[in-house]
Amino acid sequence: MANELAIYAARSENSKGRVHKDDGSEYRNEYQRDRDRIIHSSAFRRLEYKTQVFVNHEGDMFRTRLTHSIEVAQIGRTIARALNVNEDLTEAICLAHDLGHTPFGHAGQDALNACMKDYGGFEHNLQSLKIVDLLEKRYAIFPGLNLTFETREGILKHCSKNNAKTLGIIGERFINNEKPGIEAQIANIADEIAYNNHDIDDGLRAGLLDIESLRKCELVDIHYKRVKEKWPDLSGSHLRHEIIRRMINYVVSDLIETSEELITSVSPIDIDDVRKCGKSLIRMSKKTESMHKALKKFLHDNLYRHERVNLMAEQAKETIDYLFNAYMTMPELLTDELQAVISSESNKIDKMQTTRLIADYIAGMTDRFAFSEHDRISSN
Ligand code: MG
Repeated sequence: MANELAIYAARSENSKGRVHKDDGSEYRNEYQRDRDRIIHSSAFRRLEYKTQVFVNHEGDMFRTRLTHSIEVAQIGRTIARALNVNEDLTEAICLAHDLGHTPFGHAGQDALNACMKDYGGFEHNLQSLKIVDLLEKRYAIFPGLNLTFETREGILKHCSKNNAKTLGIIGERFINNEKPGIEAQIANIADEIAYNNHDIDDGLRAGLLDIESLRKCELVDIHYKRVKEKWPDLSGSHLRHEIIRRMINYVVSDLIETSEELITSVSPIDIDDVRKCGKSLIRMSKKTESMHKALKKFLHDNLYRHERVNLMAEQAKETIDYLFNAYMTMPELLTDELQAVISSESNKIDKMQTTRLIADYIAGMTDRFAFSEHDRISSN
């Protein structure tokens, strides 16, 4: 039997609700319904073929955006359960947090943002919200997935004030400098913990990182020594996994304990109090946070900028630029559905809107679909 939810947790029965009126479910609470809608969405399935760091075709063992999202949800749920806040909501936010990513990881996002610079730019976080609010086509009576306010609040992790002004109530916290609920704060940190650790695993497996240089990071070194003390001869994938699982456990335990203390000291009386209290309540201790940041910086300098990853980034940029320019100059290359929207006489759209449709289309592609579109168009 789960513990009773803390008073500052999000509660399904007190949700600020959905944009479109929607009947409840007999067996599931509102956040479980959100989670299930996300899992059944086509954007979620496409995460399977979207790059996290390594492009999908480099090997079957690497993380994709889908397996990354599942690992984020696992870490998020553990933290939420330990703190007696809403596990279902945390899970829903974690599973949806990367839905708006373009193909080819951050390189793809940068390339599409550059293509869109005269048309309002492209931001994956805003795109995640747009997917669940508008782009998914599943229900006869409303667009998108019609998720609850709290899940949408968690999905919109960052937002410029200018964009926030266009988003109505969901954008207000960025204008008022408020925080989201605790569940959203957990999802945010669970994301960082997940990628810091799984990128070490993937980087080592790919041969782009080695354990000896990783030991320059204190967080790795402490756990390397603990594992070697117990099993001096351990090596290869056993060594890698024994270190990584200890690091995740260490960081997550520290985060839970530090957050518990912080929450007790602030003593929020409900979720609105959490939003208005002026600081994040989900934190690591200063020492662990600095070790975690140092590891993040190490990965930034040694993995994300590795020449093999850079090569992928260049290919990504070329592919996205090519597709964007091709669709802009020859809209007849787009799907019949998109062409019908663009050429509609009854509901005329302008260049800005056409360009956004093209960006949405490219952003929704998987890596391999983007490559195959590139090949299809260039061979004509
Ligand atoms: Mg992520």
